Amino acid sequence: MAGNARYVEGVSKRHDFKHEREALSKGQNPFAAVLSCADSRIAPEYCFDTARGDVFVCRVAGNFASEDIVASLEYTVAVLNTPLILVLGHESCGAIEATITARATARVGLHAVTLLARQGDILVWRRIGVPGD
Ligand SMILES: [Zn+2]
Repeated sequence: MAGNARYVEGVSKRHDFKHEREALSKGQNPFAAVLSCADSRIAPEYCFDTARGDVFVCRVAGNFASEDIVASLEYTVAVLNTPLILVLGHESCGAIEATITARATARVGLHAVTLLARQGDILVWRRIGVPGD
């Protein structure tokens, strides 16, 4: 949480990626796994002000747990011993909006929209503010 506070305050640490590279080539030991949207406006590493190797990030447009995402999260817990999984949502998700629009207009064609539509009932409920949003 301290890293997020630094990010919010605009005082993120300066990360020395060049010197981290050699240590990271020997392995990783992330303290958290993060499931988040692939939205280009934010990356979990930035909003928690972490270094490379600190968080194991799984991203997909619309921020849902596909089988591939679940398998990746399972790997980080079972093999890397990551003790925490964080599901990070955000407002104004374009992927969710596109899915809702596609469902409303019966227009499906984009692969991402098709994937998200499989999660459609959950997404629609989130959109209209049902508890659990
Ligand atoms: Zn999104």
